[in-house]
Amino acid sequence: MQTPTVDQDNIVTIDGPTGSGKSTVGKLLAGRIGFTYLDTGAMYRVVALETMRRGINPDDSAALSSLCATITIAFKHNDGMRVYSGDCDVTDAIRTPEISMLASRVSAEKCVRSELVRMQRDCGRQGRIVVDGRDAGTVIFPYARFKFYLDAQAEVRSQRRYKELIEKKQKVAYSKVHEELVQRDRDDCSRALAPLKPAAAAIIIDTTAMTIEEVVQELLAIIDARALQCHK
Ligand code: C5P
Repeated sequence: MQTPTVDQDNIVTIDGPTGSGKSTVGKLLAGRIGFTYLDTGAMYRVVALETMRRGINPDDSAALSSLCATITIAFKHNDGMRVYSGDCDVTDAIRTPEISMLASRVSAEKCVRSELVRMQRDCGRQGRIVVDGRDAGTVIFPYARFKFYLDAQAEVRSQRRYKELIEKKQKVAYSKVHEELVQRDRDDCSRALAPLKPAAAAIIIDTTAMTIEEVVQELLAIIDARALQCHK
């Protein structure tokens, strides 16, 4: 994979496991500082959805590779952020537990990662972006000026994820949500390519006992303090 050539001075990366709060925090933070928000997890979810819809075997690297070469993923900001695969609005379809597990599986494939990382770097070319994911600070933008890693106790993360799914009217059992979250953590952290871990020099924040607003405020304070240091 090529070394990134993007100016990473005004890029914020937020990595962390499921339910650590990174997407909600990322969206809010981006809005407050006037940056674009990029949800890289949604991109792996689109690949998973298309894998399922087209009946592709997730172990078939060649088929995944040609899928990734032809797929178009877009984010449109009307009525909240909507995710598109080609012309099809897949915002809700990519949020099921089944797609979560399949996204984790296809994301371990080299051809999928290299194609999506290329697209993600393209999105960041103009800078002024908040990127959330698993490898935003380790692989996509390792020279980003601000790198954060959010974490929280597994039980608390499972509760948050369960609540999210229930609010979306999905029929799920808490025990199943917890079991899948633990498995996805294990798979994402132990895979050979771009495993989930804090980037070098990332600021690690435990969100277990924090509200979303408290986390956003903490990130803003760190960003402001660094910007001030820079102008001294
Ligand atoms: O963040 P989200 O839960 O939407 O991500 C779904 C899956 O996509 C993760 O479990 C992970 O396996 C994969 N992913 C990844 N790299 C990223 C973002 C997500 O491997 N940057």
